[in-house]
Amino acid sequence: MSELIDIGVNLTNKALLRDLDGVMARAADAGVGRMVVTGTSLEESQKAIELCAAWPGRLVSTCGIHPHHASEWDAHSADRIRAMAANPCVRAIGETGLDFNRNYSPPLDQEQAFVHQVELAIELDLPLFCHQRDAHTRFVELLAEYRPRIRRLVVHCFTDNRAALMDYLELDCYIGITGWICDERRGLELQQLVPLIPAERLLLETDAPYLLPRNLSPKPASRTNEPAHLAHILAEVARHRAESAAALAAQVRRNSLEFFALAT
Ligand SMILES: [Zn+2]
Repeated sequence: MSELIDIGVNLTNKALLRDLDGVMARAADAGVGRMVVTGTSLEESQKAIELCAAWPGRLVSTCGIHPHHASEWDAHSADRIRAMAANPCVRAIGETGLDFNRNYSPPLDQEQAFVHQVELAIELDLPLFCHQRDAHTRFVELLAEYRPRIRRLVVHCFTDNRAALMDYLELDCYIGITGWICDERRGLELQQLVPLIPAERLLLETDAPYLLPRNLSPKPASRTNEPAHLAHILAEVARHRAESAAALAAQVRRNSLEFFALAT
């Protein structure tokens, strides 16, 4: 089986950090070689870079401000992201986008922080790591305007409907699939949509410590998701696409290497 690469893991989260050596060892045992640590705020992005320095062969990161933290964007944020992104371990700008589900930051702040980060990705010629929830229409409007100048982008943790998927494919986005697909109720629509994603645009992620796959058995007592469960997500996606897990693993690995410009 090819090396699995988890393209979205919140490794700076306390739930994973407190047993980092164990998390990394279990991931390796499950075939998960490299991981992309998600940067969700300036502080977390800096911590992600420090983790990459501690695990140089296994971790790279993104650098950005999540829509929940969009109100933290200020006059210095772009410079701070620019400085962090000079580190070769930073392989994408984000996590950024729009999340109108809870509006932890007001929608206009989210739009502003998103557009600034899109412009940074263009300026630095880095791919964009995007998050969208309950904000599809506005998100696509903004994205469409900038898309020709963005090198590559992924809509991570895709859980939306068929029309949204078609919009993203039209904009030539990569699609990140998580263990949401393992949910026998909430994941039904995603199970039907996953065969429509072109093989060369599919990426896999755990979004750990969130989104523990619901059909894991036995379920870990901690209820904490971790990168080791990526193999389980791969098997589920392969089943719904009627492909072999081995073939899918090889394809998704190629996609991940290409998207994040990782060495083979
Ligand atoms: Zn997200």
